Amino acid sequence: MNMGDVFIRNAQCFGDHPAVRFEGRTTTHRELFGRIRQVLSALEKRGLKRQDRIAVLSRNCVEYLEIYGAAAVGGLIGVGINYRLSLPEQTVILQDADPAVVFFEDCYADRVEALRASLDPSVIYVCISGPDGATLGHAKASRKGPDMSGTGISQPDTSPSETVWSETSWFMTYPALLAAGADESTTLRARDDDTFLLIYTSGTTGLPKGVMLGSAGQLEQTRSQAISHLASQTDRMLIVMPFYHIGGPTELFTYLITGSTIVLHRTFDAVQILDSIAAERLTVAHLAPTMIQMLLDALTLHTCDLSSLHTIVYASAPMSVALSRRARAAFGPIFMQIYGMTEVGLGSVLQKHQHVLDGPADQVKRLASAGQPYFDTDMRIVRDDFTECDVGEVGDIWVRSPALMQGYWRRPDATAAAFHDGFLKTGDMGYWDDDHFLFIVDRRKDMIVSGGENIYSREVEEALLMHPAVAEAAVIGVPDAQWGESVMAVVVLRPGAELTFDDAVTHCRLLIASYKKPKILQIVETMPRVASTNKIDKKTLREPYWRDQN
Ligand code: ATP
Ligand code: MG
Repeated sequence: MNMGDVFIRNAQCFGDHPAVRFEGRTTTHRELFGRIRQVLSALEKRGLKRQDRIAVLSRNCVEYLEIYGAAAVGGLIGVGINYRLSLPEQTVILQDADPAVVFFEDCYADRVEALRASLDPSVIYVCISGPDGATLGHAKASRKGPDMSGTGISQPDTSPSETVWSETSWFMTYPALLAAGADESTTLRARDDDTFLLIYTSGTTGLPKGVMLGSAGQLEQTRSQAISHLASQTDRMLIVMPFYHIGGPTELFTYLITGSTIVLHRTFDAVQILDSIAAERLTVAHLAPTMIQMLLDALTLHTCDLSSLHTIVYASAPMSVALSRRARAAFGPIFMQIYGMTEVGLGSVLQKHQHVLDGPADQVKRLASAGQPYFDTDMRIVRDDFTECDVGEVGDIWVRSPALMQGYWRRPDATAAAFHDGFLKTGDMGYWDDDHFLFIVDRRKDMIVSGGENIYSREVEEALLMHPAVAEAAVIGVPDAQWGESVMAVVVLRPGAELTFDDAVTHCRLLIASYKKPKILQIVETMPRVASTNKIDKKTLREPYWRDQN
């Protein structure tokens, strides 16, 4: 069995049940499979073969799901391209992925035209229509997304084109492509060991790497997720995490395999999401911590009925305990934390019944845990000599599971370096508590070594975030002639708030050991962010201090 079989089975078992709701349209499981076969049939007629790459540069939409579905059923490789990246960044990724077809949303037509110069002349370009359903050749591609300035989440960084486009020779429209596949005949069929998705990592610690996710492995992943989420056909699942990131497709497929209905949003807009929860009677939502923060801010001005929600899944970055508490006060104890990464899929989960706000101290502490490994995930925490850490001892997190990546695309050296004895070395550090709950402490690359002591940047950030004046905090190591590295805190203050260096140090010393307190404080207006996931970009913060050292 592989991910493609899911679409075939769903069409048989849940035929008339709504699979997707998107911008007012409903697509049933049978209709979805029919469209997938049409896409496949058309691509096969265009000469595509198994394991050819089909890239997509688009915000979330139902066509994107059809294209990923075609990859799953036909053994093609879906490649989601992050629309927030710059032209040079997208060029590097597309040249690396070497696709046979590039699908693009019409607002990115100018960008794709610029990208073409660097890609193989044989690439086929297909334009997906924009939000109002118009396609190129009939309409202006000048629509703008909602103004999300400053949120870094949904606004397309590529400015939508102002050009009036007409059908030209360099691309075809999606409806035109589908027309060629109207007979749905196709011999393309995935094998279990095929690569299904090529997803690029966020690039938080270096250049994004193409991660090959296998078709059978992804099915295993969604199966263990569905079990731990207790996903069912009655669920109505909000998907707004972008499809180019691991979080979007994995959660989406988890709920699709159980016959749930996916309510898909093109981009994140806090008020629209709150309205959608109420209007669509959504039961589950998958969000990033930044999105939760924005929903909480919107809720102070906008009331709506959230009673249908029984679970909010969040992943991709740590959520501070301060934000966790605020979120639970507003939404109730319905949060489920997931720890994962592109290479692993999802590795561990903190079930919502383990989140307690005012229980015994060890239960409250568990709010910060990333939970327990999935039943089919073998997770180790090891010392530098690869021996097992004791309970409470911080070490490197290693993961082995059926969902592990097949490797980094065309990077055998990086692949070999990432594994040890079949385990993936995650690059994250953590420890177990007495009940085998995982606590993520830091990325190894973010750990600061000062005077021979390990200082975990995240612990210092947590302390700073407890200060009422601090809105955002990032802690980095900077060169120090005496200590090797010293702790530098970069903070964004709440509007109108003030913070002196002495205030920050006095506050931190109440919460953490003295040697961990910041030695330098820098107050900034905004944090640099990684384009794909909105995570704070510490490599940019560190760069000026280390430039002359390396
Ligand atoms: P790159 O690998 O290119 O540097 P990245 O690691 O940020 O980028 P992703 O695969 O999107 O790319 O992110 C996975 C990382 O996100 C994990 O290795 C971990 O550091 C962090 N992460 C994910 N979930 C959690 C969580 N629940 N708590 C803390 N950190 C998390
Ligand atoms: Mg990573």
